[in-house]
Amino acid sequence: MKTNASFRISRRHFLASSIIVTTGVWLMPRRLFAEAESPVITIRNAAKTAKISVTKLRGNISVLEGSGGNIAVLTGSDGKLLVDAGIPGTRARITEALASLSNDPVKHLINSHWHFDHTDGNEWLHSIGAEIMAHENTRKHLSETTRVEDWNFTFPPAPPGALPTKILTEDETLHLNGATLPLKIYPPAHTDSDISVEFTDADIIHVADTFWNGHFPFIDYSTGGGIDGMIRAAEANVARVTGKTIVIPGHGPIGNKSQLIEFRDMLVTIREKVAALKKQGKSRDEVVAAKPTANYDAKWGGFVINGDFFTKLVYAGV
Ligand SMILES: [Zn+2]
Repeated sequence: MKTNASFRISRRHFLASSIIVTTGVWLMPRRLFAEAESPVITIRNAAKTAKISVTKLRGNISVLEGSGGNIAVLTGSDGKLLVDAGIPGTRARITEALASLSNDPVKHLINSHWHFDHTDGNEWLHSIGAEIMAHENTRKHLSETTRVEDWNFTFPPAPPGALPTKILTEDETLHLNGATLPLKIYPPAHTDSDISVEFTDADIIHVADTFWNGHFPFIDYSTGGGIDGMIRAAEANVARVTGKTIVIPGHGPIGNKSQLIEFRDMLVTIREKVAALKKQGKSRDEVVAAKPTANYDAKWGGFVINGDFFTKLVYAGV
């Protein structure tokens, strides 16, 4: 019996790993990892074999995909600037990808928010010369022990070299490599530490995890996120871009304004449905059973957050 039980567990493990390898998943719905390790560990391990793709966008700006959140790279004589740090398991392939763009050393790193799949690479990037800039709450969460219940994971304080030393307490504009880079703080949305980074001249914007292109987003209530904040951030993103803007989402393929609008409309519609059901006195399980995301599951539920999980995240905030 013991053999059978462990077979079942490793089989489930195997299936979960396969999904990660084929879709680049970094967070599994709870039902898939209930008896296995935290998705944080699974994702960190999966990063060891993940492929990194390099896409040149406009001018001297590119995107690396495949190591946690999307990484934007600006090259030039002031040194490379990275938006987000990826996961160290892919260090060798990130190093290769960065070298394929230019010989400039990495001098600047901006964290779009505190989550591990955007900051785990901080320490090694700092060790090769990057100064790290982030929202003050990113530094706060990385400095402390932080529990994320929905990931079943407690993060210990990050090592000193991983901590941001240039702290953003208000909007700021950088000038680097001939580019103008407004950094804007979102009011709490996906977390309480989200910032956008715009490349004004190239008309490109990295919007952190306030936008998951084609996927239901995770919302981190443990550090100040919420569905209403997500909707406000989505509205702000839509208002800020034009039809020509290249939009780099935290997760999912490079996007544009119409995809931002579709994402915003999805959030608003599901929020209204869930709120109406909750107002009728329905419990969380009853609301999940009512399938308020049904019309959206095929398009949006195929990545890491399925319709049931997203319903729970919305229910917690209405
Ligand atoms: Zn995130």
